[in-house]
Amino acid sequence: MSSVPSKMKAIVINKNGGPEVLEYTDSQPVPNLSDGQILVKNHFGGVNYIDTYFRSGLYPAPGGFPMFIGQEASGTVAKIQGSSEYGFKEGDRVVWIGRGGYAEYTAIAEKSVVKIPDGVSDEDAVGGFLMGMTALSLVKEAYPVKKGETVVVHAAAGGMGLLLCQILRDMGVTVIGTAGGPEKCALAKENGATHVIDYKATDGPSWVEQVMKLTDGKGVDCTYDGVGKDTYEGDLEVAKRKSKVVYFGNASGAIPPFNIARLSAKNISIMRSTLMQYIVTREELEFYANGVLDMVKSKKLNIKIHKVYPLKDAQQAHKDLEGRKTTGKLLLEL
Ligand code: NDP
Repeated sequence: MSSVPSKMKAIVINKNGGPEVLEYTDSQPVPNLSDGQILVKNHFGGVNYIDTYFRSGLYPAPGGFPMFIGQEASGTVAKIQGSSEYGFKEGDRVVWIGRGGYAEYTAIAEKSVVKIPDGVSDEDAVGGFLMGMTALSLVKEAYPVKKGETVVVHAAAGGMGLLLCQILRDMGVTVIGTAGGPEKCALAKENGATHVIDYKATDGPSWVEQVMKLTDGKGVDCTYDGVGKDTYEGDLEVAKRKSKVVYFGNASGAIPPFNIARLSAKNISIMRSTLMQYIVTREELEFYANGVLDMVKSKKLNIKIHKVYPLKDAQQAHKDLEGRKTTGKLLLEL
């Protein structure tokens, strides 16, 4: 059995607030295992926008304080209690989804862990895991997009955006990507956006007007929107008759309540999608996890890592992400 220390490095949150509430410690007790869990020695933790929602209080702290955030990490199996239901053994390279990824060790439900295929690095495995599965679930289930259709992807140079653009391009979908600034627009285009719109530019037509122009006034079949407050109304304007808007995040703030009677003008459907409801069973998790890891292995999906931050710089990672300074995926080295 590999030796597991009693203390570890971790980020602990004792109250909601800005990035400053992310407290670094090197003396957090290594968690004990409960039934059905295995212990993973994490190498890289994924930073996701949802981490900022838990930190700020937009989403309530699950289980109260102290709170441990981080929805995913890659590493090696450090300890198994009894026998493994899914055939893991100590030393296996794995990636997991759950909670507690801003830490050296995580006790995680075995059913939320998958093996990393040979040929996929720890960085790419976690860099494309939660986000890759989300992107696949958005195009397969939230709005099952078809070849030849036209969609809008907001924040197209972000972590989610770059993956969505690549996947949609491969499916033969016309992607209108929005992004803040010329450099982000160029990156989105390189990664599969057919057209790009700088929605931060203050001169010239609005992004809504540009989408309508690009679609000859018809509008789009679907908008995938992780920006939220700043874009949700425009999404309804660029929606084609009988189309769908899929909201999946709040990078600019939560969408306020609105009157659904507005949807009747064009028989628009809306949905609020979350990955976790698509990977409830082991079978569902394996479907999406293997789907994305296969794409990473075959290089169909290129994982762009913005930066690997030391764990003690988690505050900076959150500042950069919320400050719209990043493209692609942020990782923490553990
Ligand atoms: P990103 O890398 O996309 O970063 C967020 C981007 O949003 C920024 O870079 C910025 O891009 C854009 N943005 C627009 N307005 C603002 C604003 N006011 N403040 C900050 N950013 C803004 O993040 P992620 O890829 O981690 O996540 C993208 C979205 O996807 C988030 O809303 C997240 O919650 C959601 N998500 C949802 C999941 C689900 O299951 N529902 C799973 C995974 C992610 P620009 O400068 O180009 O505008």
